[in-house]
Amino acid sequence: MRFSLKLFQMPPISKAFDFIVIGGGSGGLACARRAAEFGVKAAIVEEARWGGTCVNVGCVPKKVMFNTAMHAEFIHDHKDYGFDVDYKGFNWAKIKGTRDAYIKRLNGIYESNLEKSKVDKIEGHAILTEDRCVQVGGQKYSAEHILIATGGKPIVPTNIPGAEHGITSDGFFELETLPKKVVVVGAGYIAVELAGIFNSLGSDTSILIRFDEVLRAFDPTISTNVTVNMEQGGVKVMRRTQVKSVTKRENGLLDLELNTGDKMTDVDCLLWAVGRVPLSENIGLDKLGIKMDNKGHIVVDEFQNTTGSKIYALGDVCGKALLTPVAIAAGRKLAHRLFDNKSDWKLDYTDIPTVIFSHPPSATLGLTQAEAEEKYGKEKIKAYKSEFTPMYFAVTTRKEKCHMKLICLLPDEKVIGLVTFL
Ligand code: FAD
Ligand code: NDP
Repeated sequence: MRFSLKLFQMPPISKAFDFIVIGGGSGGLACARRAAEFGVKAAIVEEARWGGTCVNVGCVPKKVMFNTAMHAEFIHDHKDYGFDVDYKGFNWAKIKGTRDAYIKRLNGIYESNLEKSKVDKIEGHAILTEDRCVQVGGQKYSAEHILIATGGKPIVPTNIPGAEHGITSDGFFELETLPKKVVVVGAGYIAVELAGIFNSLGSDTSILIRFDEVLRAFDPTISTNVTVNMEQGGVKVMRRTQVKSVTKRENGLLDLELNTGDKMTDVDCLLWAVGRVPLSENIGLDKLGIKMDNKGHIVVDEFQNTTGSKIYALGDVCGKALLTPVAIAAGRKLAHRLFDNKSDWKLDYTDIPTVIFSHPPSATLGLTQAEAEEKYGKEKIKAYKSEFTPMYFAVTTRKEKCHMKLICLLPDEKVIGLVTFL
């Protein structure tokens, strides 16, 4: 009786679709548009800006800032290459303005692409209802197939007094000026990339890491060399160091108390880069018995099926290989499987290449040496290493090294892992 009363109180169905996607980011957009190509009546719901994390607060603005940082580095080489360039300083506001305008254009392009593909755009926060519909504000929509591609958000520690005075990668893209003294906490992609950008552009930059190297999950060719390169490039790498508390002074600057007993004062930008959590709360998953793991990632099988009937999930919300091309590829494969009779199509999550925009950038594909040795036995693995100074640096006072590693499986030396600095 209570159940049917609740249903009675729900708004009537405003529109019926074949397919509704929740989340207009990399994965959701790719899936909805591919589905529409097969004549499916599709809709996509987005509560913020079209394009999701990658376009608005991820890969795209990050790459603009990385390119900016590369200019700062090349400026040092201009004289060595014979150019007498009069360098008058860097204007953060200028590149931020250009970058924001570019992102705004991209938001519009994503919107108009949906229109061209005849995918219905719905703006607002989507929640699954008990009767397996999607509610957005006062409207309710039904669909035979529903995809959840809601992505994630950065973590701000809850156990550190004053942590709220720090920003995350989202806040990085809102900064109006280049901070003077920056502390980045974390040791993953985002910590490395953003610390590198700040440092190259002239901030006094420290990175606080819990262990001895950044990017510990990668092959040592990456973790060791990225850590060394950061240090040689001017970033203060503070090992085995964690923030105990943060105090904001009247002048707005932050003082940090560290686990080592030391203090850092006059910090004008504290940036947490300690991982991301999935956006799986408050979207009604519990009402439909959709299973999550203990971190809130939606549990899916190899075909992106959740435990809900004809309800799928992909991308960052599932917590596996949090990368844009992965979300896009999973989305397109799913559309083919559901609507194009490709019943066995699914994304192969092995051997996904990835680039870390460190200085210089590094890239990897396949197994690390440790993973290869664990999988096949140490005696079956042969690793080739190479280290050299690229010709670009032959005439410059600034030097950077290139490292390469091939991890091969014996006896035929099949390449099963690759690491390179670009
Ligand atoms: P998202 O792109 O996050 O999209 C999810 C969308 O769902 C969001 O727009 C959100 O507003 C919306 N949403 C959430 N809940 C609801 C709801 N209830 N109702 C309606 N809408 C909702 N990846 C790379 O491959 N290369 C890079 O260089 C790279 N750089 C990165 C740099 C940074 C700083 C960050 C944070 C990430 C970076 N990534 C990079 C990762 C990449 O951005 C993500 O893997 C990718 O965006 C995931 O796509 P998605 O579709 O799963 O989620
Ligand atoms: P990551 O999971 O890559 O790294 C977070 C790291 O921070 C952990 O590995 C951990 O390293 C450290 N950490 C965790 N908790 C704490 C803590 N309490 N205090 C200090 N350090 C801590 O997360 P990111 O947020 O950097 O990035 C999220 C994802 O986004 C990435 O996994 C990646 O898939 C994607 N991304 C991709 C990019 C690209 O393709 N170039 C760029 C940016 C993001 P440790 O255990 O060593 O302390």
